[in-house]
Amino acid sequence: MALLQISEPGQSTAPHHHNLACGIDLGTTNSLVASVMSGETKLVLDQKGRAILPSVVYCGSKELLVGNDALDLVTKDPKNTVLSIKRFMGIGYSEAREFKNLPYDFVDFNDSILFKTAIGNLSAIEISAKILSTLKQRAEGALGGELKGAVITVPAYFNDAQRQSTKDSAKLAGINVLRLLNEPTAAAIAYGLESGEEGVHAIYDLGGGTFDISILSFTKGVFEVLSTGGDSSLGGDDFDNLIFEDCIDSLNLNNLSATQIQTIRKLSKFAKEELSTKEVAEFSVEGQSYKITKPQFDTLSEALIKRTLLLTKRALRDADINIKDVKEVIMVGGSTRMSEVRARVGEVFNKLVLCSINPDEVVAKGAAIQANILVGNKSRNDVLLLDVLPLSLGLETMGGLVEKVIHRNTTIPITRAQEFTTYKDGQTGMSIHVFQGERELTKDCRSLGRFELKGIPPMVAGRARILVEFQVDADGLLSVSAKEETSGVKSEIVIKPSFGLNDSDMEKMLRDSVVFAQEDIILRQLQEQKVDATRTIEAIDSALKADKALLDDAMLKSILKAREYLSSILESDNVTLIKNATLDLEKVSSKFVEMRMNKSIMSAMQGHKIDEFN
Ligand code: ADP
Ligand code: MG
Repeated sequence: MALLQISEPGQSTAPHHHNLACGIDLGTTNSLVASVMSGETKLVLDQKGRAILPSVVYCGSKELLVGNDALDLVTKDPKNTVLSIKRFMGIGYSEAREFKNLPYDFVDFNDSILFKTAIGNLSAIEISAKILSTLKQRAEGALGGELKGAVITVPAYFNDAQRQSTKDSAKLAGINVLRLLNEPTAAAIAYGLESGEEGVHAIYDLGGGTFDISILSFTKGVFEVLSTGGDSSLGGDDFDNLIFEDCIDSLNLNNLSATQIQTIRKLSKFAKEELSTKEVAEFSVEGQSYKITKPQFDTLSEALIKRTLLLTKRALRDADINIKDVKEVIMVGGSTRMSEVRARVGEVFNKLVLCSINPDEVVAKGAAIQANILVGNKSRNDVLLLDVLPLSLGLETMGGLVEKVIHRNTTIPITRAQEFTTYKDGQTGMSIHVFQGERELTKDCRSLGRFELKGIPPMVAGRARILVEFQVDADGLLSVSAKEETSGVKSEIVIKPSFGLNDSDMEKMLRDSVVFAQEDIILRQLQEQKVDATRTIEAIDSALKADKALLDDAMLKSILKAREYLSSILESDNVTLIKNATLDLEKVSSKFVEMRMNKSIMSAMQGHKIDEFN
């Protein structure tokens, strides 16, 4: 997370303004965008009412097409029609070359890969950005305004390079990425599992060309990926292929043209999808009719499904989780619409699987829920705890010390409040100076900003109760407010994270905090002692000013002597000396304090009958 900086005054967003945000499921086969609209999580449809955008980009010399329009050109112009771009994100030229039977021409660009297309050489990031910008436009059109940001989902197994590429892609598409979210976590959020009990969940995701199984644990508000498994070349396409081959076999088709093959593949896919709701599917090829029943298809599918179950058990083993201990099993991916898949997965876990939300929509919906929270449309309590604070946050107290209010590594979002008080009698203002860092003194920490609390009613020092509240939201946005509790006067500040985080600065701050820890503690004690001494001197001074007359010469002399001595050693670095001198001053003036107390009681009682006080 980034270091924190101060925003311009007046730039924080109004609390009840609705910010436009969306969740994007950037899938290998299909992509979707969803948003929370009037409290309901909905898919954003294109102008023809379709939710699914096939992740296909056509890079022709004259036009650039994305989605269904591009899909139509797969057979006509395969070289320029890029499918499954997600597989190319964040990988090098050598890795990409390992994918077999691809129709594309590649260019090696310093071991990163470029697609040689009719409109020029394009990186995977650029191609993926076309899909993202199509979704962005769709969302902005439907929501009627500019997006404040989006949550984009990525597979749980995506490494840093793959995640960074996804972020870069979004940047290129002009999308402010609120957060990348793991696909299985998004699915769990869509089902609201974060508001349920702690426990372990399995997310079974069978998409178009990939199978992913993730074991998630949910504890203390945080989803953690315990293990991932799967097969990057097992998906819906393989099920299409079962029908395709069965059709070729049973109709004795041979010497088919590329177009014929493509047509039969399409028909097979339709037939497969139909069998999720019907008992029989039929189509005709070259004047012959082909028919397949659901039981026949289930038999054909058995080996593929078995393989996913094997991988599921392996992932559980990797996570060291007993199958009995899995609380919920979530079905994700269009291919889990196949009832046989649901049934077999349910058998393995011996429970009903969660599939009430459309499995091809659940990831986008979860992302939308999270996005809605992250742009501040919901109360902070609804935010998922997914991140930690990199450096402690605190404020300056007397003597240039930093009092930490939220310690580093605390999971965010978080709200912490602490009470402070005034230093002087009659103090009506207070400067709240916010710092970040691990060291004890302000000069060694990073100043994030300051603001003033004014209008504190005049009171004796230490009587006012100032509640300072630090709030850090899921994005690392800090707001600090201060409120004087007896009068209710309030003041606050919002501090925003800086982008382009400087890890080396952060590292130095952390390193220094360890190196100087001992030194810091000693300095802190010294500062605290000095503050204490100064306060004692000031209290004596004001008491003398008011009630010197109560003292006889000897008493006055000894108090003044102790006061002068303490004042003379105040700038030394000797904690013990200052401490003893302070105690000494307090001791010689204790009688004086008592006399003043009696005097004020007497004056309060004046004019009252004594039994009023009984
Ligand atoms: P991905 O996450 O891989 O991008 P999806 O989750 O959208 O893709 O899954 C796409 C796959 O889901 C395709 O193979 C498609 O045929 C399959 N699919 C969609 N609807 C159905 C259905 N009703 N029955 C069976 N398979 C389906
Ligand atoms: Mg998917």
